[in-house]
Amino acid sequence: MMFYPNDILQQIQKSKGLWDLYTRKEEYSPPQLNRYGLFIYGYSENPNILEPAVSRYLVNNGYEIEYPAHKQFAVCLTHDVDEIYPPHKHTLLSALTCLKGLDFNGLKRQAFWKRHGKEKSPYWNFQDIMNLEEKYGAQSSFYFLATDTDIRRFRYNITDLEDELAFIVDRGWEVGLHGGYYACNDLEEILLEKGQLEHILGRKVTGYRNHYLRFQVPNSWETLEKAGFQYDTTLGYSDMVGFRNGMCHPFWPYNLRNNMEVGILEIPMVIMDVTLFNSTRSYSEAWQMAKALIDTVVSCHGVLTLNWHSNSFGCPFRGSWSRLYEKILQYCDSKNAWMTSGIEICKWWRYNDFKPTR
Ligand SMILES: [Zn+2]
Repeated sequence: MMFYPNDILQQIQKSKGLWDLYTRKEEYSPPQLNRYGLFIYGYSENPNILEPAVSRYLVNNGYEIEYPAHKQFAVCLTHDVDEIYPPHKHTLLSALTCLKGLDFNGLKRQAFWKRHGKEKSPYWNFQDIMNLEEKYGAQSSFYFLATDTDIRRFRYNITDLEDELAFIVDRGWEVGLHGGYYACNDLEEILLEKGQLEHILGRKVTGYRNHYLRFQVPNSWETLEKAGFQYDTTLGYSDMVGFRNGMCHPFWPYNLRNNMEVGILEIPMVIMDVTLFNSTRSYSEAWQMAKALIDTVVSCHGVLTLNWHSNSFGCPFRGSWSRLYEKILQYCDSKNAWMTSGIEICKWWRYNDFKPTR
């Protein structure tokens, strides 16, 4: 039914440039890191982040992917849950936006929700997000923080969300771990946070993305495999959209230190809301950039992974962010996309055994 080259790794290894890009060789001894310890696109020597050079090479050399129901490509929808309760600055900005638009109901919801209980917070919006996705036959993943410590401030207590988490998984959406700022590469801390989330959820958690996209090649992959995750979706840049290792397909990372594959599937992140809007000057420019990336992924029959923060949907001062999300869903739907969660992509990849052999 499908053709997979037996030896995908060997195919990429034929080209040194592609192999270095694929394995992220330049990140093994980075010239510098930013203040959050991140390797950013600004430090990379990859001249064309918007072209998935490795995936393109594979596809041109016989790498064929099929998706359920003959879909053309896949969109992996994900949401980092950084906030459940708006910080003061957000409340102020949202209230001002509502006032400007004479939206008094909005103003009430943004400024006075506390009177009606925690779950009335404008960022307690998982059902709204799921309803929106359901309209397009899509599902998604929510990655929750399960720690008290953070570089900026206390975020939220995951125990507040026990009923909500149950509701999310009952609808068929995924709950994964948004590893805390200090969890990156700290196996003990990751296990603690994973255990905490699993305890509240009452089931295993298999998907992961680190807060602030903190990630170190190849150590983070090794740590996450040891912690028992099935997949990670941290690998993307915070300062630029695109294809960090030239792949627009999930892949089993390769560790250049011991010349072995790591047993965790990486589903590389392509577009994060903050990054897209920070690197473009207007809604229409953001849309043009997103559309170009979608068309590129379609041409490779790849997986486009989006990260739209859950609070971006309850945030009047970022109204265009949620509008663009829906526009992307509409467009991808019209292009015959399979729009689903990280865990569903992961299951499909494992089931079809896309695992390259040596
Ligand atoms: Zn985060």
